[in-house]
Amino acid sequence: MPQAQRLMEKGRASIQPARSISKVGIIGAGQMGTGIAHVVALSGYEVALSDLKKETYDRSIETVEGNMARQIAKGIIKEDDREQALARITYAPDLEAFGDCDLVIESATEDEALKHKIFAALCPHLKPTALLASNTSSISITRLAATTDRPEDFIGMHFMNPVPLMELVELIRGIATEDETFSTAKVFVESLGKTTAVSEDFPAFIVNRILLPMINEAVYTLYEGVGTVEAIDKAMKLGAHHPMGPLELADFIGLDTCLSVMQVLYEGLSDSKYRPCPLLVKYVEAGWLGRKTQRGFYDYRGEKPVPTR
Ligand code: NAD
Repeated sequence: MPQAQRLMEKGRASIQPARSISKVGIIGAGQMGTGIAHVVALSGYEVALSDLKKETYDRSIETVEGNMARQIAKGIIKEDDREQALARITYAPDLEAFGDCDLVIESATEDEALKHKIFAALCPHLKPTALLASNTSSISITRLAATTDRPEDFIGMHFMNPVPLMELVELIRGIATEDETFSTAKVFVESLGKTTAVSEDFPAFIVNRILLPMINEAVYTLYEGVGTVEAIDKAMKLGAHHPMGPLELADFIGLDTCLSVMQVLYEGLSDSKYRPCPLLVKYVEAGWLGRKTQRGFYDYRGEKPVPTR
């Protein structure tokens, strides 16, 4: 549908400051999509969740069940809450299944070309009033929005990992993002019990602009033999009071995601200080992506994580 017609159908003049959201689509049931589905369903929204394979969705639901069980054990939620939340999540076998969503959050692999393809295929199935968000860690929101039929209704909604535990969501406006989209996104994120921080649309936004160069530097510290994996993590935990060491954290984030963010910083800011460490590249080339593949800077296949260098 042409953009002008869509705008007319939405009846812009009479639109309230924030649009109402009841059903949320989530594309990508990896570690982030799983966490987002968890908090969104628990907050009372209907959720449609997709991935490339149904097995990934099934694994994601198992993870949500397990993580909610932990919340029950800690007295954060009740068994009823879990059952109701799980009943609100349905599998989206194709993009048509997002047709009745008020908001769709894209949380697929951190790869710009892939995200472009997803949005191009998704847009024809959306209702005119649907908002679009991306959970990208680093990619330009303006560029992603420009590939859709609704750049004014597009926003960066950057959740932190693990989503059920972390308080912050960064909101990033693209150049065309309208005030109404921003206020709807803010109200929605706050309804999940999260706090927002607003970032301008520059590579990797705020959190990852600061965090990822630190992680990359930790990999250089390992690469240059300044310290071992254990020494580096211990040094930053005990010497800087970080709750996790930087290499442990890199494994937790996913080394492919870390590398993608560094590439976006390096290319987007054209500054050699963001050059991804060759050792990080090597781990990704080996398919040692951290916890999600059971091996990264640590090997997680045994009872206790063992450094791989
Ligand atoms: P992940 O590798 O755990 O999951 C990505 C999922 O996307 C995979 O299950 C993959 O099969 C799926 N996918 C790929 N193409 C798809 C398609 N066409 N349709 C549906 N699903 C598709 O990665 P993740 O850590 O969950 O990251 C997802 C997004 O969230 C990325 O943009 C990443 O930058 C961002 N993010 C990651 C973190 C983190 O700490 N890992 C934090 C904040 C944001």
